[in-house]
Amino acid sequence: MLLSSSMIEVMHQHARDAYPDECCGLIVGQPPGDAGMSGQERMRLLPLRNVQNEYHERDPETYTRTARRAYLIDPFEFERILEDARDNNEVLRGIFHSHPDEESYFSQEDKDAAVPFGDIPAFPQAEQIVMSVMKGEVKGARVFVWSSDGKDFLEGELVVDVE
Ligand SMILES: [Zn+2]
Repeated sequence: MLLSSSMIEVMHQHARDAYPDECCGLIVGQPPGDAGMSGQERMRLLPLRNVQNEYHERDPETYTRTARRAYLIDPFEFERILEDARDNNEVLRGIFHSHPDEESYFSQEDKDAAVPFGDIPAFPQAEQIVMSVMKGEVKGARVFVWSSDGKDFLEGELVVDVE
């Protein structure tokens, strides 16, 4: 995943603002390999609200965790963004969230959320970015990419494009 340094900064700021809760957001852009000769991919990074606490308050038995340990993108907002992307010939390229005072690993909960039917992810081409936020400061980010061979998420490369 290649992101501009300004997009990385927006993502980091979103994580700092949400701390000590998890933050979340989406990256939409051209389908992979569609950049053409320039090699420049058009990507849009969308910081979103984490609605986990609202769902937890309404239904704590289903949504056992709070936003301190989980994230949930508003499903209506998610759908609207996907429709918008389709209209622009874009696809979902990335999903990002933060781990407050935890390392940037792809947890079992993260995997369960990404692979809701236990087989292939809902969005196999979307790379999963996890940021580690220690005491309010972003200490790093890692990206995890679905491998259809291994049927698992494997660590990929997060490349910062210096503008
Ligand atoms: Zn997570």
